[in-house]
Formats: sequence, structure tokens, C-alpha cells
Amino acid sequence: MSTLDEILKEIDKAKNIVILTHENPDGDAMGSSLALYQELKTMNKDVELIVPKYSRVFEILPRIEEIKTEGSKSNYDLAIAVDTASIKQLDGWSKYFEDAKTRIVIDHHSSNSMFGDINYVDMSSPACSQVMYVLFKYYNWEITHDIGTCLMAGIVTDTGGFQYTGVSTETFEIASSLLSQGVDLVKLYKKLLSTNTRSSFELRKIALDRMEFLEDGKIAYTYINKKDEKKVKAETGDHEGLVNEGRNIEGVEVSIFLHETDDGYKVSLRANEYVNVSDVCLMFGGGGHLRAAGVTMQGTPKQIREKLVREIKRQLK
Ligand code: AMP
Ligand code: MN
Ligand code: MN
Repeated sequence: MSTLDEILKEIDKAKNIVILTHENPDGDAMGSSLALYQELKTMNKDVELIVPKYSRVFEILPRIEEIKTEGSKSNYDLAIAVDTASIKQLDGWSKYFEDAKTRIVIDHHSSNSMFGDINYVDMSSPACSQVMYVLFKYYNWEITHDIGTCLMAGIVTDTGGFQYTGVSTETFEIASSLLSQGVDLVKLYKKLLSTNTRSSFELRKIALDRMEFLEDGKIAYTYINKKDEKKVKAETGDHEGLVNEGRNIEGVEVSIFLHETDDGYKVSLRANEYVNVSDVCLMFGGGGHLRAAGVTMQGTPKQIREKLVREIKRQLK
């Protein structure tokens, strides 16, 4: 039996199901989980999608108001984690995953630790929402307008508007099919990729002002701490995308962006051409993709910067 058939068997068997995704969820986490949630609802499953905290920019996504911040049970028949590379990324709600009778992982991260009983991970896919589209087609599940909107949201955000490595003819074929169904790509693009909230704009100014260039300009580095966020009255998700500022500068191979959280500094790394940033993050207990990865680290920004630069330097040409 193929992995996809096994997954369907578990879904058919389960009465109650919980869907989970990674902390600090991006458009792909929100889109792929909401798409799956809607289908399982249609199948009359007792299903809950738990996302404790997310940016209000995602409020344009259909059915987002049905998301729960906490689960109503402690032992679900089935737990499905989407767009999540490791159990650690499920943060404080990993218990819902661990305590479920059966656990499934659907993802696209190259560093995925295969933490489910059944793992369907397509590392060549640029978005988990694209993996989800393939699943929908395989199972012959109907891609409604609302589900299509969620999948498109995930694909367009995780590919940075169809520009990152991993985008393939299949990505465009899927996007094309969703467009012909009437999914409003322009609206999604504008709201999820082009629009800054006022506070995210203020945060960007601080991060840009603080940017440093190291190793002959091959590394760009900047950070945001809690004080900055307080100053600009930042909301959840306002720092999203700031790591791209450094990456988009000529000559830069790796962009480092640190963001202070309750657990230390959340590190975001992005590479342009050749540095494997997933390996760098794996060194410190994180992971991700070849050219986009993350990890949480302890210490001052300067100490963390030194540790990261030491590792990145090994790979610089
Ligand atoms: P970010 O910089 O947070 O946007 O993350 C970049 C990519 O790396 C995303 O695909 C994340 O899901 C992944 N990632 C971030 N943090 C971790 C982590 N601690 N472990 C594994 N993957 C991560
Ligand atoms: Mn994600
Ligand atoms: Mn993703």
C-alpha cells in the first residue's frame, strides 16, 4: 500500500482528528492546514485545527475563524502535522500530536525528522500547499473555491511570489488550474506579499538601519529585539520577511536575521546560491530547506552572530 493510501485509510478510520502546524505560522502553514481542515469537515469528521497564534494578515483566508487556540480533547484518534519539520516546531501544542493514537506528517522540508507514524514528505516541492494539492488530486477530493484560495495562498507565499528555488512547471500548472477556477491571486499577492502594516514598516526601518555586512559583504546580519517591538507596537508576524532584505543585496550569499522571543532568539537564515543553511541550522538543533532555514538560539545577538558566522564561513567561496 502506498503512503498516500495508508494516510487515507487512517483518515477514514478516525472519528476525531486534530490538525497542527508550526509555530509562528507563515502563509504555507495557514494555507495547507486550512485546506485540509475544510476537506475533513466536508467528510463529516470531528476535526479541530489548532493554531495558538497567527498574524492578522491571514484573516482574508476562508474559514480562519474556525481555528481553535486549544484542543477540546487530549487523545485524538488521529493527529496530522502539516508544513512542520520537527516535533519541536509544534512548540507548546506538541502534546496533541504525541498523545494521538495515530500520527501523520505531511510536509516538504528537507530536514524533516520523520516524526510521525506515517510520513509523506516531498522535499522537491516548494510549498506544503503544493504537496496538499497533489494529495487532493490523488484522493479525488474536490478543490472548492475556498480550498483553492488557501492552497494558492500557501504556494504564493512560500515561493515568494513564484521566485524561489523549487518552483517548477508543476507549480505553474497548479497555479494555472486554481486561477481558472477563479481564485483571486491578485488579492492574495497584495495582502500577503506586498502590504506592510504600519508597525512592520517601522520595524523594517530599525532592522535596515542596524544591518551589518561581514566577510567581504557575503554575509548580511541584523536583528530585532523585544524593545524594538514594544517601541513600534509590533503585532504577531510583523518581522516576517525581514530576512529577505539582506538576501536581496548584491554580493550577499547569506542573510542572518535574529528575532527575540520568550525562548531566546529565533534565527532566520537565507542563502542565495550555494550555502546550505539547513545544515548550518541543523548544527544548532534547527533545520529547514537548502536555502531557507531556522533555529532558536540562546545568548546575546552578538554571541549568536559569532557562532553562526563561524559555521557559515566554512561554506563561503
Ligand atoms: P523562517 O526563517 O522561520 O522563515 O524558517 C525558514 C524555513 O526553515 C521554514 O521552512 C521553516 O519551517 C524552517 N525552520 C525554521 N525553524 C526551524 C526549526 N527550528 N527546525 C526545523 N525547521 C525550521
Ligand atoms: Mn512554513
Ligand atoms: Mn512551507
